[in-house]
Amino acid sequence: MALTIEDMALFCKKKGLIFPNSEIYNGMAGFFDYGPLGVEIKNSIKQSWWKIFVQDREDVVGIDGTILSNPNVWVASGHVGCFADIMVECTKCKSRVRGDQMIEDALKIQADGLSAEDIDKLIQENDIKCPNCKSDFGKAGSFNLMFQTFVGPKQDKENIAYLRPETAQLIFTNFKLVTETSRVKLPFGIAQMGKAFRNEISPRDFLFRTREFEQMEIEFFIHPNEKKCNILKDKKFKFNILTSDDQEKNNAHKEMTVSDMLKAKLMSQWHVYWLKELYQWFLDLGIKPENLRLREHLKDELAHYSSACFDIEYRFPFGWKEIHGCADRGDFDLKQHKEHSKSNIEMFDEGTKTKILPCVIEPSQGVDRALLSFLFDAYEDDKERGNIVLKLSPKLAPIKVAVFPLVKKEGLPELAKKICDNLKKEFTVSYDQAGSVGRRYARNDEIGTPYCITVDFDSLKDKTVTIRDRDSTKQVRAKISTLKTVIPKLLSGKLAFGKAGKLL
Ligand SMILES: [Zn+2]
Repeated sequence: MALTIEDMALFCKKKGLIFPNSEIYNGMAGFFDYGPLGVEIKNSIKQSWWKIFVQDREDVVGIDGTILSNPNVWVASGHVGCFADIMVECTKCKSRVRGDQMIEDALKIQADGLSAEDIDKLIQENDIKCPNCKSDFGKAGSFNLMFQTFVGPKQDKENIAYLRPETAQLIFTNFKLVTETSRVKLPFGIAQMGKAFRNEISPRDFLFRTREFEQMEIEFFIHPNEKKCNILKDKKFKFNILTSDDQEKNNAHKEMTVSDMLKAKLMSQWHVYWLKELYQWFLDLGIKPENLRLREHLKDELAHYSSACFDIEYRFPFGWKEIHGCADRGDFDLKQHKEHSKSNIEMFDEGTKTKILPCVIEPSQGVDRALLSFLFDAYEDDKERGNIVLKLSPKLAPIKVAVFPLVKKEGLPELAKKICDNLKKEFTVSYDQAGSVGRRYARNDEIGTPYCITVDFDSLKDKTVTIRDRDSTKQVRAKISTLKTVIPKLLSGKLAFGKAGKLL
């Protein structure tokens, strides 16, 4: 039986990965806290993304903006005017639900982007009733998703501020200062990660739709006349892709290479370049290729400023869902901020010696959703072993190595602790002496520890230990003195497990 999202939430709670927020007060819908192991995985995801897309590149710089900003930022971006979901309210029990979700649940059709009128019509035509009390719904209305607060001691209209609903706008408002101070030249990107907040009408599906979450976003700026992407290599790279055409014809997704997609004019060169980089990032961190695909947005799903948008979707037990969105936004945002702020935010382009507003490709994703997809992909109920094995990429595993003494006596704990302290300088290590060795293996399988080291009586004599591999359960005998070099090679995949010592 497939693992449900509820099973996953329970598993995460039991293993100290993710907890319901303020649970001792009966919790709060749409908010989750990361526990001791979850925070390690989350930090590893963020570190990997920042290293690959900011630090390792010469054409991307980072910023870290605030959560509250001058509210005019959100007027210019369009969020005050139209960052809303369609909401319907039951006439009897007054429960409120998101219109599109209710339609999707009731009619099993794609309802993203439907207007209030569309939703009213569908409710009437199909005689959809409140799932709670079977009464009629009232007329659909819109509901702004931004959280409001007040800045300063006066709680009046003048002092309203919004918790940012995305990190992206801070990149645009800092665009002028970055270009003036960072010696960047086109094409280049500005990246940011951090918290964002959306007052979701009906948060659900655990980490998938929460009210507070974390984003990782890049705005990549390109000269408006620059069509060619010089760094687009490997045009044979294959995606699974569901085009808008195939969605209209009810076809399944298919395989297409980068070249195929360019030939079909599905997107620009820079757009496919960024999709490939992010698709590859998910694969490199362990997502199985068959569980990943691109989905092209349908014409009526596209935001008015966007000429093309593709999601990277993951095959969750509750269906294919977005874990990354990459839009071609043109110069919409910079233009908006230029108009609303009346500041001259154009940049001087050395190449053409003119002032321009660049165009933007926006690779954007949630940290929490990425984490959820990594967890689902790694989760395996191993019937033979009789326990869950979380086959996380070693790059994401919260504990890289666990060290056990075979028994709690005769000097074994001391030697095991010494090994543990020595390895701790390099990566996360845990020491575990409770219960049978089998129980300790199982406990570490469940939290994804890639390697377990057991210290036994022979270790005292010949200075060797047993290393056990999580995925194959194979074991090798290796010298203690080699651990510091062998384990990092195993973790990075540079050494095959059988070569780490003498296979047992
Ligand atoms: Zn009702």
